[in-house]
Amino acid sequence: MSAYAIADFSTVIGLEVHAQVLTASKMYCGCPANYADAEPNTHVCPVCLGLPGALPVINRAAIETVMRTGTALRCTIPDRCKLDRKNYVYPDLPKGYQISQYDLPLCIDGEIEFTVEGQVRRAGITRVHIEEDTGRLLHEENAGEHSSLVDLNRSGVPLMEIVGEPDLTSPEEAREYLVALRRILRYIDASTGNMEEGAFRCDANISVRATDGSFIGPKVEIKNMNSFRAVERALRYEEQRQREAVIAGHDLTQETRGWVDARGVTVSQRTKEQAHDYRYFPEPDLPRLQTTESVRDAIRQSLPELPLARLNRFTTEYGLPFQDAVVLTLERPIADIFEDSVREVSTADAYRMTANWIVNDIMGLARSRNLPLDALPVSAAQIANLVGLVGTGAVTARAAKELLPRLEHGEMPSDAAKRLDLLAVSDDVDLAQAAAEAIRRQPAAVADYRGGKKAAIGRLMGETMKLTGGRARPDSVRNSLIAILEETPPA
Ligand SMILES: [Zn+2]
Repeated sequence: MSAYAIADFSTVIGLEVHAQVLTASKMYCGCPANYADAEPNTHVCPVCLGLPGALPVINRAAIETVMRTGTALRCTIPDRCKLDRKNYVYPDLPKGYQISQYDLPLCIDGEIEFTVEGQVRRAGITRVHIEEDTGRLLHEENAGEHSSLVDLNRSGVPLMEIVGEPDLTSPEEAREYLVALRRILRYIDASTGNMEEGAFRCDANISVRATDGSFIGPKVEIKNMNSFRAVERALRYEEQRQREAVIAGHDLTQETRGWVDARGVTVSQRTKEQAHDYRYFPEPDLPRLQTTESVRDAIRQSLPELPLARLNRFTTEYGLPFQDAVVLTLERPIADIFEDSVREVSTADAYRMTANWIVNDIMGLARSRNLPLDALPVSAAQIANLVGLVGTGAVTARAAKELLPRLEHGEMPSDAAKRLDLLAVSDDVDLAQAAAEAIRRQPAAVADYRGGKKAAIGRLMGETMKLTGGRARPDSVRNSLIAILEETPPA
């Protein structure tokens, strides 16, 4: 019988992320790096096919993008770095080695900030280095015959590995760390971060230890997690498995386990004894790289404002509610549209109203049209025009909501309001007529109002609104009704 209970343990998690670097060409040759829509084995050349005698050339843009990532993650960029061969044999790796980095990576000693339930947390970044992606194997079955095909379009696509310190203490933290990292990569145009397409992949190391220091478990690596949700679920499962194993008196081993999403479990793939020995050595076909202060400066200058800083500025500079600022800064293009929309206004009301329209109605419309998360169906100019119309009372909020989905491409809401006859009823005669008609139709409400139940005016306002097709401003409606009710003596 073990002396431990589940609550006596804490969890230690570190994440390793592989992200494809957004460049036009591959890492060591001039082939296009985009392979999504290409026929298999059409974006290839002697270098990325690993043919004997072919020589690699370094992709400068990829190196700079990794440095930009490191700078965004507050890393140090050392003066010198080198590339190394990582040797292993697999059918999707034609050269028999990957050109990666071993002991002198591009970026070291950084940190990332992320939030968990509104609280800012920090975790260390050990290193960011450059390497290259492998090809892809396609397994087919034809009339009972199994075959494996290889597509080398992905072979040699620039890949960066972002290794985090084991500073995370829960599956939730791990998830938020990944969400924040992916957002930074997207903000600085370093990677699409697309997990479904394999452009952003995560492996996790997790171990448990007794909080009183009497037990420290071995590190278990988890692979095959293809979504943020899968990462959180796999870590939660593994945390529980390891704690229960220690309580039951079973041995834990240092091993690699794969996440099986459909079953919600991790299964052992290989133990420490079966670990690869990659026999790294310096890549003889490429020079060492030297970084100068002016290069580091230029990279710092090229960085946009990062997501968390922008979120904080949205709450202070524009006075937006925290939750609206969070939603607006999830994707950089949305944050840009918000700032472009409020360029011509300067009141806190206008800022809040614009944020509110984007976060609720406009993003809702984008979702209903299945637009990508970083796209809106209307432009900043259209949003500014719409918010202005509502703000001045030229269009009621209700009419604006009706108008929004009926906007034609590039059409200004003020033009659409005329086309759709949705301009607010401002003509006193029209409104007075509608109010008088409402009073005729709702004698009971009139009697209640005159009998002292002033709230009965709500029913009359509703009726008047209906008669004007929602185009009248509530305060004008109320005033018109009161004017008639107070002037006309009871019948
Ligand atoms: Zn190539």
